[in-house]
Amino acid sequence: MPHYWITRTIIVVSLLLPFRILAQLEPDSAQVNLYFPQLADGGNPAQTWQTSFVFTNSSTTLPALCLLSTFNDSGGPLALDLGTGLQSRQSFTIPPLGRKTLRSLMASRSTVTGWAYAACNIPVQGTVLFRQITNGVPQVEISAPASLPSPIYRSAANRSLGVALVNVYSVPITINLQAFDTDGNQVGSRDFTLCALCHTSFNLSSFSDSFPRDFEGTVVLRSSEPPAVFSAWTLNAERGLLSSLPSGGVSWPGGHIDKIWQAYRKILAAASQINPTVDLSSTRLDIQSSPVINAWATRDGTIHITLALAELIADSPSELASVIAHELGHIAWFKTGQLLYNPANPELDADAAGMISSLAAGYDPYASAGAMGKLMMITNRTDLFSQAFDNLNDPHTSFSNRMGALFATLQQACSSPAAQSICAQYRNLVHPSFPPSIPLALPKPNN
Ligand SMILES: [Zn+2]
Repeated sequence: MPHYWITRTIIVVSLLLPFRILAQLEPDSAQVNLYFPQLADGGNPAQTWQTSFVFTNSSTTLPALCLLSTFNDSGGPLALDLGTGLQSRQSFTIPPLGRKTLRSLMASRSTVTGWAYAACNIPVQGTVLFRQITNGVPQVEISAPASLPSPIYRSAANRSLGVALVNVYSVPITINLQAFDTDGNQVGSRDFTLCALCHTSFNLSSFSDSFPRDFEGTVVLRSSEPPAVFSAWTLNAERGLLSSLPSGGVSWPGGHIDKIWQAYRKILAAASQINPTVDLSSTRLDIQSSPVINAWATRDGTIHITLALAELIADSPSELASVIAHELGHIAWFKTGQLLYNPANPELDADAAGMISSLAAGYDPYASAGAMGKLMMITNRTDLFSQAFDNLNDPHTSFSNRMGALFATLQQACSSPAAQSICAQYRNLVHPSFPPSIPLALPKPNN
C-alpha cells in the first residue's frame, strides 16, 4: 500500500483560519533588505541636495519594523538629520497599509554623499527622492527605487551619465565598467576598486581618458573575480537635464543572501500569524558559505541554509521559501514537542507545516516539489529510496513519497470547509487556469 502515511496525516485545518493570504501578496519591488546606492544632503545655497526615503507597507495586518543605516563614502557611519537629530541608524515602524517618510534636513554646509541600507521584518517598498534646491527654491526631484545588489548592472548611457556604486561586503571588491557605442562596439573600460562598505559616485565625463568625448550607448558594470554582487544606480543627464533610469541589475543569478532573507522573513511572519501560540520570535537564520547542498534546523531555534542550496533553488523564490518553511516546521516541533500534521514522521510533518506557511506567505505551495526535484537531480538520487537530504531521525522516506504526502495535505486542506475560501483566494489569483480536479483549482462553474 503506497503512501500509507497519507491516511494518518492529521490536518489541523483550524490553523488555517486566522490569517489572510491576500495580505501577503506585496508589490514586486517590496523587499526586506533595501539598498539605496546614493544619497546626497546639504550644500551651499546655490546648490543644496535633500534626500527623502519613502517606505510603504502593503501588509493589511502586520506592522513593518525597519532599521535604516546610512554610510559615508568611506564605508563608515554617516550621521544624517532625518528629523530626529544627527544619527546614522534610525529605527521606525510602518503601520499596516501605512507609509513612513524620512526627509533629510540639509544640515551640512557642503554636500555629503553616501548610501543607505534598510532592513525590515516584512517586505516593504522603498523609494529614495533626491531634490535639488537653488536659493531655497526646489528645481528638480529624481526618484529611484530601492534595489538589491547584483553581479551585473546594465544601463543606457552617454558621456554625462551619473553612476553610483556601493560595495556591500566587508572586504574590498573591484568593479569593471565597460562602455559600448550605439552599434554595440566596446569603446572604453575602467576598473573601480571599492573598500569595504564604500561608496563612489561620478560622471562618465570625469574619465575622459577611458571614454570617447561624444560617447553615447550603454554601460555594463561587472564585478571582477571572484564574482561579487554590488549595489549600483545610474542617472541620465543630458544638457543639464536630469532623469531617472530603470534599475539595471540582473534578477538572477544575484544576491542569494538577500533572497534567503526575503523568504525567511516572509515565512516567519506567516508562520507566526498562523499559529500565534508557538513562539517563533527567537528563531535565527544562519547562512553558510559552504559547498554542501543542505538546509537544516537545530534545537536552539536556528535555521541553517548553505549558499550552495540557495544557488540551486533561488531562481524560484517559492522553492527557496519551501525549504526555509520546512525547517521552520522542525523548529515549531522543537519548541512545542508536538508533531501537528503527522505524528509518525517529522519530515512529513515539517513538509506539511512548511507548505501551509508557504501558502500563507503568498508562495506557491507546489514549489516544494520543484525544490525536491532539483535535489533529486543534483544528487543523482532519482530512485525512490535513496534520498537522504535533511532527514531527521531517519524517517525512511523519499522525495517522491514526500511529494505525494504534500499533495494529499494540500488536497485535504483545500477540501475542508474551513480552508476553502483561502484556497479559492489563492487559486483565483495564482492558478486560475488549473484543471478543476486538483487542489487549488477553480471550482466547477455552477450551471
Ligand atoms: Zn527536515
